[in-house]
Amino acid sequence: MDKKQFKTESKKLLDMMVNSIYTHKEIFLRELISNASDAIDKLHFRSLTDDSVTVKSDEYEIRLTPDKDARTLTITDNGCGMTKVELENNLGTIAKSGSFEFKNDPENAKDEKEQEIDIIGQFGVGFYSAFMVADKITVTSKAYGADEAYKWESEGADGYTLEACEKEEPGTQIVLHLKEDTEDDKFSEYLEEYTLKNLIKKYSDYIRYPIRMITEHEKLKEGSEDEYEKISEDETLNSMIPIWKKDTSDVTDEEYAGFYKDKFFDFEDPLKIIRQKAEGTSEYIALLFIPARAPFDYYSKDFEKGLQLYSSGVMIMDKCKDLLPDYFSFVRGLVDSSDLSLNISREMLQHDRQLKIIAKALEKKIAGELSKMLTDEREKYEKFFENFGTQLKWGIYSSYGGNKELLEDLLLFKSSYEPAEDEKKEDSEEKEYKNKLVSLKEYVSRMKEGQDKIYFASGESVNKIKFLPQVESVTSKGYEVLYLTEDIDEFTMQMLRNYDEKEFLNVCKDSLDLSTEEEKEQIKTENESKADMFKFMKESIGDKVARVQFTNSLTNHAVCLSSEGDISVEMEKVLSKMPDADDKQIKAETVLEVNVNHPIAKTLGELFEKDKDKLATYSRILYAQACLINGMPLDNPSEVSEMVCGLMV
Ligand code: ADP
Repeated sequence: MDKKQFKTESKKLLDMMVNSIYTHKEIFLRELISNASDAIDKLHFRSLTDDSVTVKSDEYEIRLTPDKDARTLTITDNGCGMTKVELENNLGTIAKSGSFEFKNDPENAKDEKEQEIDIIGQFGVGFYSAFMVADKITVTSKAYGADEAYKWESEGADGYTLEACEKEEPGTQIVLHLKEDTEDDKFSEYLEEYTLKNLIKKYSDYIRYPIRMITEHEKLKEGSEDEYEKISEDETLNSMIPIWKKDTSDVTDEEYAGFYKDKFFDFEDPLKIIRQKAEGTSEYIALLFIPARAPFDYYSKDFEKGLQLYSSGVMIMDKCKDLLPDYFSFVRGLVDSSDLSLNISREMLQHDRQLKIIAKALEKKIAGELSKMLTDEREKYEKFFENFGTQLKWGIYSSYGGNKELLEDLLLFKSSYEPAEDEKKEDSEEKEYKNKLVSLKEYVSRMKEGQDKIYFASGESVNKIKFLPQVESVTSKGYEVLYLTEDIDEFTMQMLRNYDEKEFLNVCKDSLDLSTEEEKEQIKTENESKADMFKFMKESIGDKVARVQFTNSLTNHAVCLSSEGDISVEMEKVLSKMPDADDKQIKAETVLEVNVNHPIAKTLGELFEKDKDKLATYSRILYAQACLINGMPLDNPSEVSEMVCGLMV
């Protein structure tokens, strides 16, 4: 019979498995058992809605059969089985488990061996991992309800065969022909009762279906006092108690993390494990995980939030989205409740009162745990926030501030705050101060006497914001300014409106007046006296600015842009990037401010008297400079360049 070839990627992975130097080759068993359990799940699922599936719940089983003479280990299940096409597709191609994307990601580039260890250790590699211990694998499978069965066989990377065969019962049988023992690897161990029992306990104890094996015991012969006989017993090797139902004291963090990685296809330990057992009005157990990193599709529309939903240990839904609010959509995990009926439909679930109660309680629990993390494990929290902070901000924005109370204390922002010298020293070298993230609570606790607003400024990066003229002038007076670098930030501030009754104030937008009454009066007079000049300057620049005026809040810079009204210059930038932006509606009301204490102020005054043409050019150049300082593109860079050159020659 002709050998069929594996798809290229599968071949690579397979090669890796065949020649594996991975030390924990034993995980192959976990992978195959997990596949068997999934196959039974699938059939069980079908039986809920399909009357033609007549298997009873207590008939499901996974069976291990070691055969020392033949040097084979056989794993059998009576799950859904595979058709010919499924055998070909599922075992001839690498599954979507993501391991390969990881390997091929240049960011994760490591040497081949390290990569192998990472992939196997962190993902598991499914069915192919069996090639770490077997030099030939024979899979016989009969799909439930089908008449014919098929045999798939492979000796590794050079291909596989697929042919019709006889098999009575539906389900799948996998025969592993174990490799010869070597110095380092004693593959024959996987034929030992003792090893197999231990491996099942270690990796697959929680599997909900019985994993059985015929085991042998010595027993006193009946009627004899010293004569023993060997008897066989069909033994169930796993406790079948799901990990979430076990007492937390009986489960290590490592076991929880292992369960998480296996079940939710992550390669990193979760940042936080949350377990909640509720009794009373609604009874449930929740086992939740906060991932250490956002999944690659998290910020795309393909991402589906949700928790797995179980009714008394049986999964009834894979992604129950009603259990998680959008702002906590990064949480993975499951909820098991005895209050939910097994056959409840999705539509009914949406309106289920119990489910709503559970969702509310989980929301509180998650927020509480995050808040604890913020206080007790700051570094971890900052890592969390880097990954998922945007989601929390979005939660406030999209509810028009409705979730303010729940979420405002979980927000962190970059800031001009620099910890005192002694505080800095405690930090290790690599953590050297780089715009520490601060919470609003921290900001408020440090506010200067007489400061009644929370100052912020926004821009593309800390460096750009830091040197904005208005920001420099505020920080130089000793005030702390929050640096908003994310597109959503300012919109979130708008929805929050205030924190601890202190309003937010954009130092580049809402005229922040830190000057004395006298100074205010002075600038007002100055502005009035130059009203004609400013009018002329505004007209020279055109519609891009609403006004030109003096300011005394700048220290070094000659000019800056500020804005009035609801939309700031930064928000205008964000909005105009949106696909359906309508330019006219989203303009910030921009004001060009001229530093009254800068020599240029005098020059402008003189030009207004003597050389209006030149004043017009200067006005446009000053506006262009202000744009550059604010990080805004110039409408007409070559014209600006020409004007500047014109002044030089
Ligand atoms: P994964 O389990 O990550 O999808 P695997 O390589 O382990 O990847 O398996 C590939 C696919 O083969 C599975 O998704 C499943 O559809 C099918 N499969 C594997 N083992 C069995 C089995 N015992 N019964 C039915 N289908 C199976």
